[in-house]
Parts: sequence; structure tokens; C-alpha cells
Amino acid sequence: MDLELITIGDELLLGFTVDTNAAHIARTLADLGIRITRRATVGDTPSDIVDAVHDALARTGAVLTTGGLGPTADDRTHESLASAFARELVLETAARDALAERWQRRFGQAMPESNVRQFMLPAGAEVLINRHGSAPGIWLENETGFVATMPGVPREMKGMLAEEIVPRLIARMAARGSTPDTATVVRSRTLRTTGISESAVADHLAEFRRAVHDVPLSYLPGLDGVDLRLTLSGHTARDADARLELAAATVRQRVGSWVYGENDDDLAALVLDLLRAHDHTIAVAESCTGGLLGGRLTAIPGSSSQVLGGVIAYDNRIKVEQLGVPADLIAAHGAVSEPVARAMATGVRQRFGAHVGIGITGIAGPGGGTPEKPVGTVWVAVDVDGTVHAVKPVLPGDRAEIRFRATQIGLDRVRRVYGQMADTPGWTVSAARPSVVAS
Ligand code: AMP
Ligand code: MG
Repeated sequence: MDLELITIGDELLLGFTVDTNAAHIARTLADLGIRITRRATVGDTPSDIVDAVHDALARTGAVLTTGGLGPTADDRTHESLASAFARELVLETAARDALAERWQRRFGQAMPESNVRQFMLPAGAEVLINRHGSAPGIWLENETGFVATMPGVPREMKGMLAEEIVPRLIARMAARGSTPDTATVVRSRTLRTTGISESAVADHLAEFRRAVHDVPLSYLPGLDGVDLRLTLSGHTARDADARLELAAATVRQRVGSWVYGENDDDLAALVLDLLRAHDHTIAVAESCTGGLLGGRLTAIPGSSSQVLGGVIAYDNRIKVEQLGVPADLIAAHGAVSEPVARAMATGVRQRFGAHVGIGITGIAGPGGGTPEKPVGTVWVAVDVDGTVHAVKPVLPGDRAEIRFRATQIGLDRVRRVYGQMADTPGWTVSAARPSVVAS
């Protein structure tokens, strides 16, 4: 089934809001075998909305819109559709009464009069319930096809898409003899790698070039690492899943331990899973990452049983006083150095009584670089039960990118140690120095 999508809102045209709705809708529907063949964005101007709907109906006869359903005067989607379909605007009293009642219960006062506007709907439209907000959507049909409207607020749009639109689209497909067993879908599966360059991954997969067992492969480098996305279209869901499984197994086998997860997996969450399996704890000592690593770990629900805490040791005095880094080490080697990173990792592990300590110290830029230690120079040290692993990458990117990549490197080392994986180039491993400064 083919669909056209129209996203509506002046803020989208102006670039103040990024059109994330279009991406979410396309991804969700592709999975059901429904293709967005064209998408347009228009402002909150009725004549533009009418034109866009007219054109899309003439071409495809199946149109979804988001945006412009709210209570204020700049929300004009439904009045535009009433004019495109030559229908009156009528007050949908049942939905209005339901909101008025909810409003009274929740806020203890009458619903503002302006809210009534959003219940003025084209006559004959089917109401789509909004369980995540106040503005209803509609499903409107005539002999040329249908238009369904959803709110612009992404959370409300997602709810209405899943609860109201998708079931109707599936029923429509079924009425034409297409069922989930016979519909062809677009499916993808992403294998996530980290610590390896795009070209080095490509070398591992040299014999496959652009497809693995006829499943097209794309390389998507990002801050977490290089994602390998396998995407298949034109097959039934069951067939696609089987082919993706085979291709993914081959990629995993060739790329090996560089693959840390799939799809939306976050390395921080996977590391916490590994620690949890051993009933182990972690503490972090962060200079240039300023709490980013602790933030990533504690963003994961349930992290409190593994994460003990951390120190943002930005100033050298804090490295000395809070982590027990010997001042002479800093004086001799500089704050961005292997001995200091090691002492930070060991210091935080010992002082916090954790199994794992991670220390990060580096130059995130844009200033502060020198010929010997250019911007992007970071020392990452990981102390696991007294064995300290350290590496000094020179990371590319801007300040935010360098900081994120540094956290990824520390986390990946923990993954490799706990997974007993082969060593990777650049790391040195040695016993922790005995703690020098008592706390
Ligand atoms: P509206 O339903 O047009 O009143 O939009 C309500 C909110 O949703 C505004 O904050 C918009 O910026 C946001 N929004 C509208 N359309 C989109 C879209 N296509 N993608 C992401 N956000 C959107
Ligand atoms: Mg709007």
C-alpha cells in the first residue's frame, strides 16, 4: 500500500522544529508493508494545506497529515480539510464534553472556551481519539480516497498512529486481500560496532561489498561507532526476518567482538548488564568528560545496583584531594597523562570500594591543545580489580564529540574485559600502583 504524508506547521518550514514525525511514521509503516511514496511540508495556511491534500489525493488517494489540530487560531488543518472536501464544520459534542469533564476533574475549573475550536470537525468525518492529549484527529473519506489527520506533538502523534491509524490501515489492506502474511515489508536490522573504523570493518566484510547473502548493507558511522544496517524490502515479514537472521549471523561472525549490540542497544546499558551478572559495581573519575560517563550510566533504569558514584575531577586539586592522585605525578607528567589517568581509575575504585574504576582525562578543546598533546588527546584508564588498562586515543570531532567518544572507549574496555575478548591495539595493561594517599 502506498501513502503520502503531509506535515503541517510554519515552524517546520522555518526550521525551528525538525520534522521527526515524518521519520517516525515512515519507519513504523514500512514495517507493515506500507510505503510513504511522497512527503510534503506546508505551513499553517489553509490554501496551501488544501492544495497539498488535493494533489496527494489525486496521485495516491491515501493521505496522512500531522500538525495544526490545536485549539489556537494558527491551527487550521481541519477547517482546510472541510473546504477541500466541501463539508461543513460541525461541533463534535461528545469529544468536547469528554475533555470538558476531564479538565474539570484534573484542574478543578471549567475548560477554556478556546478549547472548543479543536472539536469543530468536517461533517461526516470519523473521530480519531487522542489518548495522549486533547486534540482529536479525523479520518475523512470520499470517492477519491481518504485523509487522516494526527496532532503535531510527537508523543500524541505516536499514540494516535499506533492506536487509531495503524489498525485502520491494516483493515484496509486486508479488505484488498493483503494480510500480514502476504504483505511485503521493509525490515532492517542494525549491528552496532565500536572501536573500529568504517574502512577496517569493510575489510572484514570485503567479500560481501554491498550486500550480505543478497541483503543490502550500509555503513553508518556515528559517535557510538560504526553501525552496520541490513535492510530488506519486497519480502513478507517472515521471509525477511529469516534472511536478516542469516545475514546478521554472517556479519557477526566476520566482524567478531567489534560488534557490541543490535538496533537501539546502548553500550552503557550492556556494560551494566555485564556487571550485574557478576554482581559487580563501578565508579567513575572524570576530568574532560565532566560527568558525561556517570550521566550515561545513571540514565539506565536500575543502574543504582551497579553504579556507586563518581567524581568530576576537573581541577588538579580535586584529582589529588578526592581521588588520591599523587601531586608529583601531575607535576611530572601533566594532568593529561597515562600515570594520572591510571591513578584516577584506581583512586576512585579504591575510595568507592568498587570492582571497576574508570578514569578519563583529556583535552576536549577547542583550546588547550599543544603539538605534543593536540585537541582530542584523551587518556582513558579502566581498573578492574587492580588490573589497569590504559589507552591514549586522539579523538576526532568537536568538544561534544570528543567527550562522548571518550566515554564509549572506557565502557567498551569494561565490556571486553568482562567478555574475555581478544585484546585490541593501543592498550597497555599492568597492575595498579598501591594506593599512595590515604583518604
Ligand atoms: P501542532 O499540532 O501543529 O500545534 O504542533 C504542536 C507541537 O508539535 C509544536 O511544538 C510543534 O513544533 C510540534 N510538531 C509539529 N509538527 C511536528 C513534526 N512534523 N515533527 C516534530 N514535531 C512537530
Ligand atoms: Mg502547529
